[in-house]
Amino acid sequence: MIASCINLLFAWGAWGHKHINRTAVFALPDAMQKFYYNHIDFITESAVVPDLRRGILNDKTEGAKHFIDIEDFGNIPITSFPTTTREAYTKYDSTFLNKTGYLPWHIQNLMEKLTQAFKKRNKSEILFISAEVGHYVGDAHMPLHTTSNFNGQLTNQKGIHALWESQIPEMFGNSYNFKTEAARYISNISTETWSIIMHTHSLADSLLSADKQARARSDQDQMYKKDASGNTVLSYSQPVFSNEYARQFNNAMNGMVEMQLRLSIQEVANYWYTAWVDAGSPELLSLDDENLTKQNRKNYKIEYKAWNKGKLLNLSVDKE
Ligand SMILES: [Zn+2]
Repeated sequence: MIASCINLLFAWGAWGHKHINRTAVFALPDAMQKFYYNHIDFITESAVVPDLRRGILNDKTEGAKHFIDIEDFGNIPITSFPTTTREAYTKYDSTFLNKTGYLPWHIQNLMEKLTQAFKKRNKSEILFISAEVGHYVGDAHMPLHTTSNFNGQLTNQKGIHALWESQIPEMFGNSYNFKTEAARYISNISTETWSIIMHTHSLADSLLSADKQARARSDQDQMYKKDASGNTVLSYSQPVFSNEYARQFNNAMNGMVEMQLRLSIQEVANYWYTAWVDAGSPELLSLDDENLTKQNRKNYKIEYKAWNKGKLLNLSVDKE
């Protein structure tokens, strides 16, 4: 990935990341859920912190944590990638991994930290690292974060990244079904992480070909948003697609964005739950003042009930 692009490609925009983290709380078991609900706004808002670190704070070490360019490892099948962080750093040096990205290994590192935080029952670490895990597990479900053709730039499909991750969820997200299964225990985090990456990467081709189909069907003139004087609207110096084109592309993908968002929610809940179980399932609710839990009871019930019907309440995200 080239440096100038890193700042504007976020995997899920703020809409996606915030919805993923917030919804995952409702898939947790009872022993975790009320505690997480007490801090649901923190978990929601902090979902975008990793992107702020690399965007606004320009933290140079941050970018490579958000993606893995599978093709840059040569022509090897994903099953032969080093599974653990230790294996990765034995095989490759950090300069190489900073270019290719190391998202799957970063997730594993964070999971160790989250498990430790649960063992120590350190409330602020639990919440902070949970939000981080939610971010990167979400990123692992974005097909363009697993390929060197991350913005369609190698195939004349530039701008596709922001269209997929921000514009489409913002346009259609309110009709998505947010109800998932209850969190389940993952017996091997590195195996699970790699199977997510493998599945996500397998979608990159269909994503790109859906865009090609939609482009072939679209009038070049109507592909991009126009301002009052008829000029193409730019965002981060790239043309913004028209809503009509976003609709065509979304139709051609046959629900892929919603499916990946739902898988993200499910996996974030699974990962949080797994770290908690691995830490010995510590009791959490007494980390909070019981008045806080009491105050939140009513809203919690309302939000939980809505989630059971597939709806997410109390979250509005500004458009990017
Ligand atoms: Zn990211």
